[in-house]
Amino acid sequence: MSDTVIAHVDLDAFYASVEIRDDPSLRGRPVVVGGQSDRSVVAAASYEARRFGIHSAMPMVRARKACKDLVVITPRIGHYAAESERFFQILGRYSPLVEGLSLDEAFLDLTGTATLLGPPAVAIANLRKEVMDTLGLACSAGIAPVKFVAKIASDLAKPNGQLEVSAQNLLATLHPLPVSRLWGVGKTREAELAKAGLKTIGDLARTDLAALRARIGDEAARHLHALANGRDDRAIVPDREAKSMGAEETFETDLRDPELISLYLLEQAERVAARLRRNGLTATGVTLKYKLADFTLVTRQATIPATADGPTLHRTVARLLAQNPPKGPIRLVGLSASKLGPPPLPDLLASADPGDEKRARLNATLDEIRQRHGQSALQRARLLELDRKAPEARPAGYEAPPKRR
Ligand SMILES: [Mg+2]
Repeated sequence: MSDTVIAHVDLDAFYASVEIRDDPSLRGRPVVVGGQSDRSVVAAASYEARRFGIHSAMPMVRARKACKDLVVITPRIGHYAAESERFFQILGRYSPLVEGLSLDEAFLDLTGTATLLGPPAVAIANLRKEVMDTLGLACSAGIAPVKFVAKIASDLAKPNGQLEVSAQNLLATLHPLPVSRLWGVGKTREAELAKAGLKTIGDLARTDLAALRARIGDEAARHLHALANGRDDRAIVPDREAKSMGAEETFETDLRDPELISLYLLEQAERVAARLRRNGLTATGVTLKYKLADFTLVTRQATIPATADGPTLHRTVARLLAQNPPKGPIRLVGLSASKLGPPPLPDLLASADPGDEKRARLNATLDEIRQRHGQSALQRARLLELDRKAPEARPAGYEAPPKRR
């Protein structure tokens, strides 16, 4: 356990940084990505914008008030998804065990890689340099013996930095921090703990477990007490060992437009398909998931011939959506691919629709071109349409406000 080395790598102000990279005239200016209308919300803010107190999830009206010269850029979701793929290609060169958390952050297991890549801090410095040289984007990283500390360390290192927390200095780093840095501590829990006089992680670590249990319940008490003492035995779940691969978006404004919902699903299907192909997998299970405005969750699954093709995944969920139309506006939509396995054997392919093989070849070619030239040139036309329509209801979640974990 003490030999385990985990890194958490996170692109800085991802959406905003992509826009600034693509348009150098934005450099040094306060930039946010989000819808143009006043009822929109900030999806991502550049560090210059953050100096005005602007942050993700802030209503655009308030952001504009906070900064008169604010540059507001309409999100290009398909483009960010493509950039994310290039980011993950780089991560895959530094560890076979990569667990993606969202488009712009991931855990890497670096245990035992020192002979090949050098000490973890050196490997991560090289990785960050490669991300900068290849993508022109800054990222921050944390290195630690356990997952949640690696994540906290990358937050502490932002922007454009890295921080290594060794087993020896783990508790000394952790204990002065507020309890809100811990996974599972939201505003409500934070207030609850504050009432008991527990403000820092150190307070939590030193408190009596029995007393804590009586106050917040057995499970939460055990969980937080373990984290506060630096214990977190969750391993990296590499994408290639995942039982399913999914994508979803929560909207700030509930969505009604079926066409727009379908476009979000297409973008998600492309993202999941690319991840399947990156890991040499196909799926035969496809699940559509949506949440109504009243939080009712609806999921529907279909079984299809093995595929790693975006449009095929999309057609399947689009059919499920048409068969199970939402009874009102929705606040979340997503899809996942399950029943994962290697691509079917060639003889199985031969008996299938000849179009499948052609499509598989096309996808392989597209992936190769994307790897060589970056994906932006090859985005499907309808993804661009999504970029245009997206400001009507932007997805929330990727650049969440400074995380209160
Ligand atoms: Mg980020």
